[in-house]
This record gives sequence, structure tokens and C-alpha cells, in this order.
Amino acid sequence: MNTPEITVVIPVYNEEDGLQVLFDRLYPALDQLGPSYEIIFVNDGSRDRSAAILREQYQRRPDVTRAILLAANAGQHMAIMAAFENARGQIIVTLDADLQNPPEEIGKLISKMREGYDYVGSIRRQRRDNLFRNWASKAMNRLRERTTRIRITDQGNMLRAYSRSVVNAINSCREVSTFIPALAYTFARNPTEVVVEHEERALGESKYSLYSLIRLNFDLMTAFSLVPLQWFSMLGIVVSMGSAALFVLLIVRRILLGPEAEGLFTLFALAFFLIGLALFGIGLLGEYVGRVYLQVRHRPRYLIEAVLEQQE
Ligand code: UDP
Ligand code: MG
Repeated sequence: MNTPEITVVIPVYNEEDGLQVLFDRLYPALDQLGPSYEIIFVNDGSRDRSAAILREQYQRRPDVTRAILLAANAGQHMAIMAAFENARGQIIVTLDADLQNPPEEIGKLISKMREGYDYVGSIRRQRRDNLFRNWASKAMNRLRERTTRIRITDQGNMLRAYSRSVVNAINSCREVSTFIPALAYTFARNPTEVVVEHEERALGESKYSLYSLIRLNFDLMTAFSLVPLQWFSMLGIVVSMGSAALFVLLIVRRILLGPEAEGLFTLFALAFFLIGLALFGIGLLGEYVGRVYLQVRHRPRYLIEAVLEQQE
């Protein structure tokens, strides 16, 4: 297998029913496209026949097929990471195994990449999921816009293309939980988005329960923002300052008017002050924890685009 131009990455978790339909549409779509390609399937510790089906498919098209079989379920985004570390193409495309992302749309992403973008996201023209998922996604998109610097219109959609340099940057991160589209966005210099079709899940059912969706969104928030931690410091500062003012006011009243409500107000002032202090302390602690967190993620501290210097 020579070095291909395009790598298509597909995480697979318990998709035995839908894989054959996927192969039947994916390979012709890529063959038609023209440029050389490889497809990396990552079996994410499936408990059904998915791994066996991938083995068979590898036998059938070994020229363009690669499969990485993970020993246990690592989660969709870590599965994609495993493929990224092995990808050889200059353009890397991710999509889901359930055919919600039509393989025929890959061409659209590739031609956008050829225009010089290094990250092509996609927006689902009309999303084919249930009402609750649509509503919850909209709410999460809005929350993310407020707390992070990441500007992705449709974060839940995995049909995206990344340049070699963006994938290299992702590969140098050592974090154990992440959200690939957002991580890629932080490294992209020239991102853009295109509108694509979306289909209902071909076969099988969604691998995300409400619980795992909440976990995923926590990952997204905490991986890209220290804002929640900083809110505590801010709140602490405001409460301490407010209660300090109250304390002064009450002391003055006590001196001028004598004890009121048998000293109860003084007690309140003291209590508020201490609560403020405690909140500030938590916030301060949070600042240090946040720094420890940034450090252990081992993300690259900077990305060099080019160095202008004279060669020997
Ligand atoms: N997936 C995975 N590991 C997981 C969960 C999901 O590799 O732990 C894969 C799954 O096989 C599919 C993609 O991630 O290819 C998206 O999952 P799904 O379609 O269930 O998510 P939804 O479309 O409901 O958001
Ligand atoms: Mg799906």
C-alpha cells in the first residue's frame, strides 16, 4: 500500500447489522472520487460480530482497508485517536459507521480542503434524530459558545475533514478524554464549514444513552474551559466584599445605636464573611487545580507554521 492521499476514519462499536450496508456505499463512493485512499476502521471493543466482519472486509479489500481492533471499549473519540495515530493520508476524514453521514458527501469536504482550508466541519441540513436529541444539542451548542472559544455550528456531527498538520497536533496531545472536533478546532488556522445531508440511522441503535451524552458534554466543557472553576473565585470575591461592607455597617450601627436583635446581625456579618472567604479559597484552589490540569494534558504549547531561516 503506497501512501494514500486520503484517510477515512470510522469508529465501530456494536454495528454488526449496518456494516455491510456501509461497505456497499462507502467503497464505491471513494472509488469514484479519484484520489488514492485508505479506510481505517477502529473496532471499539464491540461485543457483537463487528470485529469478525471487519476482518472479512479486510480480506476482501486489503489494498485500501485497515482495521484497528481495540481490546476494550475506549469511547468514540479515543477510538478515533487510535486511528489518527496510524493514519497516513494528507487529508483525514472522520465519519460514523451508522450511515447517518452519507459517504457520498466526502467529496464535498475534500474539495473544500483543496481550496486551502485545514479544517472542514459540517452542518446537518436537516437533522434526523429524535426531538429530545435535537433540543438537547441546541442547548449544549449554546452553552459551549458561551464558555469556550470554540466556534462550531453543529458540534454533534462527526463528518469532518482535517489536514495532516491538525492531526499531527492532535496526536501530540496526551489527554485521556477529549472531543475531537473541538480539539481540532483549537489547532486549525483556517477552518470552515459546509452543509451536508444527514440520514436516519440505517440499522442498529444509538450507542449514546442519556448518561453517556451528559458525560460527553462534561468532557467537552472541562477539556476546553476553566471558566466553571473561575466562577467560584469570582463569586467568592463578590461575597467577601459584600459581607465586609455589611460588617463595617453593622459595627458602626452597634457603636452608634447599641446591640440590635441581641447581636444576631453581627453573627450574620461574621458568617457571610467566612462563607465568602471559604468560596474564595475554593476558587483559588481551583486555579491551581486548573493549572495542574493544563499541564498534565500535555497539549503542544505552540504550533510552528514555518521557520524562515537560511539553510546551510
Ligand atoms: N461509537 C464508538 N464507541 C462508542 C460509542 C460509539 O466507536 O463507545 C461509534 C459508533 O459505532 C458510531 C459512532 O461512534 O460509528 C457514533 O455513534 P452513534 O451513531 O451511536 O451516535 P449518535 O449518532 O446517536 O450520536
Ligand atoms: Mg449515529
